[in-house]
Amino acid sequence: MSEGAAKKEQKPRKFQAIRGTRDLLPPETALWSHVEQTAHEVFATFGFGEIRLPIFEPTELFARSIGLDTDIVAKEMFSFEDYEPSSVLEYRSAIITWQEPRDVQGPPGPLGTGALAKFQPFSALLSSFYLAGREAFEKRLIPRTPENGSLLNELVGERDIFLSSIQSRNDRENRADVDRLKERVRRLQLGDELTLRPEATASVCRAYIEHGMQQLPQPVKLYYMGPMFRRERPQKGRYRQFYQIGAEVLGGSDAPAIDAEVIEMVMTFFDRLELQGVQLDINSIGHSADNCRRGYVEKLKAALDKVKDKLGPDSQRRIETNPLRVLDSKLESEQAIIATLPHIADHLCEDCAAHYSAVKHQLEMRGVIYRENWRLVRGLDYYMRTTFEITAQGLGSQNAVCGGGRYDGLVELLGGPPTKGIGFAIGEDRLILSLQESGKAPPQQGRDVYIAWMGERAHATAIRAAKVLRKAGFSVELPPVEQKFGKALGQADKLGAKYALILGDNEVSEGLWTLKTLADGSQEKYTEADLLEYLRKSL
Ligand code: AMP
Repeated sequence: MSEGAAKKEQKPRKFQAIRGTRDLLPPETALWSHVEQTAHEVFATFGFGEIRLPIFEPTELFARSIGLDTDIVAKEMFSFEDYEPSSVLEYRSAIITWQEPRDVQGPPGPLGTGALAKFQPFSALLSSFYLAGREAFEKRLIPRTPENGSLLNELVGERDIFLSSIQSRNDRENRADVDRLKERVRRLQLGDELTLRPEATASVCRAYIEHGMQQLPQPVKLYYMGPMFRRERPQKGRYRQFYQIGAEVLGGSDAPAIDAEVIEMVMTFFDRLELQGVQLDINSIGHSADNCRRGYVEKLKAALDKVKDKLGPDSQRRIETNPLRVLDSKLESEQAIIATLPHIADHLCEDCAAHYSAVKHQLEMRGVIYRENWRLVRGLDYYMRTTFEITAQGLGSQNAVCGGGRYDGLVELLGGPPTKGIGFAIGEDRLILSLQESGKAPPQQGRDVYIAWMGERAHATAIRAAKVLRKAGFSVELPPVEQKFGKALGQADKLGAKYALILGDNEVSEGLWTLKTLADGSQEKYTEADLLEYLRKSL
């Protein structure tokens, strides 16, 4: 290797954020804070309290609530096994990474390979793994699932067969058996299956149940904000780590006014942010009974079967897995066909139809402008009756900034009391993108005052001045080392400071501080008290 190549080789790896994740940097983060602050303020005026949830939960919580036939659960969850370090884990690693020893000198087997000496150590590891696993299972240090129980039982028999057959097999056969047994060992579940939350509604319901919130005055109104994780194909407005701001109303009532007020709250929030091109679509997808959605889905499926050949592969698959999702299709070639499919509104049961008209009436009473969209079905299993989606401008094909709906029954499905629920989730990344596209700049983050100081005594005064000004709420930059005044003023300019406070020997001995207005270069001397007074008035 040449010297140059060797040097290149040594260069430390440069790390980059994982695909689908990104860093949010200043000044953009000021816009994020502004959006979040506005959410806190608006949601509080509607009586919502903030809930902060864990980032990971048991996989089963999401599988059970979101539904197995959804894209999220089927292919997009970031899941991992969470286990305590234990001897089972050590033996498992030893087995999985086990390699056949080379050049063993042992008594040759019937096939002349020294097979016993080679493969017996593997069998010994299996025995230790089995014993450690059995003990951990009894003491509940690993999940006591039926799968784990039978796997351990079977493993002991398989170990016996392996050991007794080593000498009657050739190396290739023994190796194949080792690989098979490694795979079996891998299948022992050592800990709980956890998942980074792909959304937060299930977690809110889990928390509602866990903390007995049905005892609180109903309905319970909660909101959250934070990162969510889905293994999606990244593109503009679609990330693997993205941020949602959402709210849920849980309690005994499904009064249509609750649906309308939740929607009114999101619209008020968007209005306060001056989000442009906001369009609210609503629909009702009824409830799961035969005389309502289930009946409709059967009719829809029958209609889809008739036109199956004209649909693309995604829609064809969805006819089997989740026919409602075909209505979500954005494929140009499918639009004319979808237009001919039966509408759910014509199949709602009486109660669901009445609920839907009441929601619309309640929206009108609140002056909320909506568009009915019969194709709006939402992807997740737990939705029923009211569903809604809000789009905004400047987002291309990923233009949905908010999705929501009613999910009566979800709390019960998760082991809680019968509870009604409705909520929404706003995609914060897209909300910010849309605000930026319409020219919304982050709030100004320039410094108010840059302190240009020279000399030891002035440094002490500068530190005190910074403390006083910051306490009064001004943003202050205090350079850590002495700079010539010219350089300091240049630096102040670069940082967008409005004023430079100049502290040199003269200022310190006179007790008068020089304040330079950077926009016009004018300067004025002030006592400490007058300076504060002046800045308070002018900033
Ligand atoms: P959902 O939880 O799927 O109903 O999504 C609610 C909202 O979250 C959507 O309308 C989007 O604004 C946003 N969202 C969902 N998935 C992503 C993603 N992968 N990247 C960015 N935003 C997303």
